[in-house]
Amino acid sequence: MTESITIIGGGLSGLSLAIALRNHGLPVTLHEAGSYPRHRVCGEFISGISPDTLERLGISETLTDALPHRSLSWFSGNRPLRRNTLSEPALAISRHLLDDRLQQMAIRSGVDLQTRSRMKPQPGAPGLVWAAGRRPVKGNWIGLKAHIRGITTTAELEMHSGPGGYLGITPIEDGWSNACGLFKIDSSIKTKHAALLPAYLEGNGNTDLAQRIRDAEWKEGSFTAVAGFGLGLQEPMPGVLALGDSHAIIPPFTGNGMTMAFQSAEIALPHLIAFAEGKTPWPDTCKAIQTSLHKAFRKRLTAAKLIHPLLFHPAALPILSHAPMKPILHLIR
Ligand SMILES: Cc1cc2nc3c(=O)[nH]c(=O)nc-3n(C[C@H](O)[C@H](O)[C@H](O)COP(=O)(O)OP(=O)(O)OC[C@H]3O[C@@H](n4cnc5c(N)ncnc54)[C@H](O)[C@@H]3O)c2cc1C
Repeated sequence: MTESITIIGGGLSGLSLAIALRNHGLPVTLHEAGSYPRHRVCGEFISGISPDTLERLGISETLTDALPHRSLSWFSGNRPLRRNTLSEPALAISRHLLDDRLQQMAIRSGVDLQTRSRMKPQPGAPGLVWAAGRRPVKGNWIGLKAHIRGITTTAELEMHSGPGGYLGITPIEDGWSNACGLFKIDSSIKTKHAALLPAYLEGNGNTDLAQRIRDAEWKEGSFTAVAGFGLGLQEPMPGVLALGDSHAIIPPFTGNGMTMAFQSAEIALPHLIAFAEGKTPWPDTCKAIQTSLHKAFRKRLTAAKLIHPLLFHPAALPILSHAPMKPILHLIR
């Protein structure tokens, strides 16, 4: 008898895993608390993904028209810090489009996709995968994002940092750019909603950019914010198999969170197939996946955790402006 797989969370890890399992003929139900399409807090550039991963998951076609960005300029406050050419392009596409494409592909492949269906973790339940994203915990960070148009940039990707956080600008589809930042929560900032984005930039010393963003055209409905999450390995939930951000959150400056979401689905895939075919009991399946996730992500999580505080420290600016880019990218992917 074939066991079915139930996935909770229809973001990148949940949707890509569901599609891949269906492509192997397995019955899959996916519960997503929200609906599609929708805007999400994300820098919307994918760094370090291999075509093989996308191929194995059966989702390559969703990224064929993603914009390949190579040039990067980095500012500290209002000052240019450095300019680089990436050896591998970062792929840019809005989550509004990407998640929607993936959910359509999931439905076409026969996934039983239930939207507006919020589920609870069920520790020990065989075949249950928790891919529900960031774990709500008290955290010091706020993530802000909006799609803007009519802003001139000095490179394809721009990064603006300061003592309180950083914001990236990434051109995406249809002439829009994504402006997405991660900032330490500042209780002195009293504005609300979309005004938070330029207010946090002002507070971070990125005053020129704050003005350019205020003057830009904003895409209606694209502003989103998220707070209440922690970076790094997430508190394990005993008896629950967690993938993607539910397993670990790599600091966003790496542009590697989406890659990790896809890779965690790729890592889990053969083990879940073996479970569904009755070859491996559920506890052994979970253990094997957890061990593989740990092995695959340990180095980059540690490196990103060490580098992240340097982005905010004025004394680290000389290092950041001269450190060779290639070895750093190698460490955080
Ligand atoms: C500020 C910021 C900027 C970022 N920028 C980038 C970037 O530029 N590049 C990059 O690669 N990564 C970036 N990331 C990280 C990236 O967005 C995540 O790593 C990625 O989305 C993780 O995918 P996931 O599938 O694990 O979770 P998600 O994509 O978050 O999906 C989880 C899904 O689960 C659903 N859900 C939650 N709870 C339940 C429930 N109880 N029942 C049912 N469904 C539920 C949610 O609605 C959601 O759809 C950024 C993150 C932040 C915070």
